[in-house]
Amino acid sequence: MRDITAPESLRWRRFVDVFESTVSAAGYELVIPPLLEDIGVFTRLGEATDVVTKEMYDFVDKGERHVALRPEQTASICRSFVEHRPTTPFKAWYSGPNFRYEKPQRGRYRQFDQVGVEVLGSLDPYVDVEVVQLGWIFFSSLGLQQVDLAVNSLGEPEDRAAYVAALASYFNERLDELSPESQQTLSRNPLRVLDSKRTQDQGVIAEAPLINSFWSDGAAAHFETFCNGLSTVGVPFSVDLKLVRGLDYYRGTTFEYRGGTLDSAQNALGGGGRYNGLVADLGGPDTPGVGFAIGLDRTLLACDDEGVFPAPAQHADVFVVDVCDGSDALLICSELRSSGIRTERSWDSRSMKAQMKAANRSGARFAILIGEDERASNTALIRDLRSDAEQISVPRNELLATLSTYLSSLQGAE
Ligand code: AMP
Repeated sequence: MRDITAPESLRWRRFVDVFESTVSAAGYELVIPPLLEDIGVFTRLGEATDVVTKEMYDFVDKGERHVALRPEQTASICRSFVEHRPTTPFKAWYSGPNFRYEKPQRGRYRQFDQVGVEVLGSLDPYVDVEVVQLGWIFFSSLGLQQVDLAVNSLGEPEDRAAYVAALASYFNERLDELSPESQQTLSRNPLRVLDSKRTQDQGVIAEAPLINSFWSDGAAAHFETFCNGLSTVGVPFSVDLKLVRGLDYYRGTTFEYRGGTLDSAQNALGGGGRYNGLVADLGGPDTPGVGFAIGLDRTLLACDDEGVFPAPAQHADVFVVDVCDGSDALLICSELRSSGIRTERSWDSRSMKAQMKAANRSGARFAILIGEDERASNTALIRDLRSDAEQISVPRNELLATLSTYLSSLQGAE
């Protein structure tokens, strides 16, 4: 697990800000679920789901409750929905860390942040379109251009079950050709064999049966309306009939956003789909759902590759250099900061030279200088740190107004 330090930490903040403005424009409400839940919330995600069976941080707490750090947040949002019963359709967004005991590597960590949305209570295929489009708009707002969207449908539960059975028998017939890892996966979850990136498996996977011949009429019609809707709103996509997502609960629509610059084994920036049975599994009324989760780490790696969405520069506007006892700096900082001017200062009565060095390092445009003369005459010197212009002297009671004018004229010029 990692510390996220500045300036990357500022970038994380801004990432969530951009996400929030994208989804709140469409009326999604923020839900902040707890980091820790009863383990039952997650075990309902499915016995064949790796994040539950192999990767969960779970333990028995001091009250003998078996709990787990959340490996994802969809289950928590559904549990919260069952508990609070908001009116439907319920449109929620979230952000924050999840925990999975995985082998850490580039783009894969044991604590990682996601942002996501969930819509509960509607079967309308245009909800699927809205959700997928929101992710698409978000990536564009970050400046990413090389994102590919892949879509598929896992059909109705019966279609999915028939497909899984057909896949299992197909893969079992060609068991010897599969890698040992995929042979293992097959015994737990035949769908996930399709996810294998191992070269040895590719020939067998290429000839595997496809889900579309198992779709019921209803599933096929939903998928068609969904795809047409994406075209209507101008979201480009490709149909990938072998796209299955890691979590067991998906039914119907599934989709994945892939970063064009990332290594194919780790190129999923995010994904999601429909999970019509999950709320009922958690003890609520039968309520359909659709949503996605986007990983912050991998999306930022994609941003690095494309040279977009840099960490925001954080610098002071003003640096106060007080070579008396520091008490004037105390007052000036407090006055300027309360007017929203980013103001820094030095401590420990450092020399003029040391304070000027700190002022330059802070990135401030202006230094305010207070020496014995200024103190005696109740004035301050303003020095532009990025021009050779003469420093000017202003009465102390005009300092704030003068600086505000300077800073806003600079902003206007930018
Ligand atoms: P999932 O919840 O498994 O569908 O993952 C959705 C997205 O979250 C992925 O596409 C990744 O971007 C991100 N993600 C999942 N697991 C990790 C991890 N261990 N470390 C970093 N990002 C992750």
